[in-house]
Amino acid sequence: MKKIGVLTSGGDSPGMNAAIRAVVRSSVARGLEVYGIYDGYKGLVEDRMVKLTRFSVSDMIIKGGTMLGSARLPEFKEPEIIDKAVDILKNRGIDGLVVVGGDGTFRGAQALSERGIACIALPGTIDNDIAATEYSIGFDTALQTVIENVDKLRDTSSSHHRCSVIEVMGNRCGDLALYSGITTGAEIIITSDSEFKLETVIEKLNYFDLVKQKNHAIVIISEKITDVYQLAKEISKQTGFSGRATVLGHIQRGGSPTAFDRLLATRMGDKAVERIVEGFKSECICLVNNEIVAVDINEALNTPEPNRKQLVELHERLV
Ligand code: ATP
Repeated sequence: MKKIGVLTSGGDSPGMNAAIRAVVRSSVARGLEVYGIYDGYKGLVEDRMVKLTRFSVSDMIIKGGTMLGSARLPEFKEPEIIDKAVDILKNRGIDGLVVVGGDGTFRGAQALSERGIACIALPGTIDNDIAATEYSIGFDTALQTVIENVDKLRDTSSSHHRCSVIEVMGNRCGDLALYSGITTGAEIIITSDSEFKLETVIEKLNYFDLVKQKNHAIVIISEKITDVYQLAKEISKQTGFSGRATVLGHIQRGGSPTAFDRLLATRMGDKAVERIVEGFKSECICLVNNEIVAVDINEALNTPEPNRKQLVELHERLV
């Protein structure tokens, strides 16, 4: 193998640049040429790429977003579009790819590897929804952003006897809500794993207000569960708290990556290049027991979601 490509795809996440940097520097150190492909699979099928040197990625370890851009290309599921991508790679003499993204990106890599292109996937998503890895690149930074914002909302909520309802990203995977809820001392955490019932939320809030005499309440809720503005109105109507909703939105995707994400991306990027050089064709790189390991993409996509029951119980015990 002489030439490889690297791309970022799906929703961006902080630390993608650190991953690109690691792939480039690791490739150069191992004598490989490396091409940066713009805008994920979209740029690939449009043959938009550039040769990267070790200097192309200078300063990138600290930057949020992705220097290569990211995009979604739903048509990439169609066989003729995938064949086109394979032809483009073959014409350029690129026989290996490192892709960074979520499970959709992994499926694209799987399709390419079935057609003979060696693909190693890195989990890059703020949702932490790749079950095969304990952490995905960007999750820790997004969590930090949520915590900083919730802490600020708590200050003002305490001053006004308010209940802040804060919607965070991650629907299929509630980790961002669960981890931020525990680490900010939120009174209530609602994810798609817990059944949402307005009556239960109201009952709990009245208990925190009247029995526990809390000055404020924080409700952290994953996106796409209910209309948080409506929920805040009901809270104002049915409890002693004044309800206010905040949707954190895309702010959670931005920012300079934390030390954890920089290190994770750096370790994963280097491992991906090592696996490509060793001749592996269809793997993703995961963090398991703090070790960086390679897992077959198929296996990774079929890994059942981890059970967060212990964390849920921990939260309920300490709130
Ligand atoms: P995020 O978790 O941020 O949503 P993701 O990688 O899961 O990231 P998707 O939009 O699902 O984001 O996928 C990214 C891209 O991967 C798609 O736009 C498409 O080009 C490709 N892709 C998704 N699913 C498949 C599939 N089944 N086969 C081939 N390619 C796919």
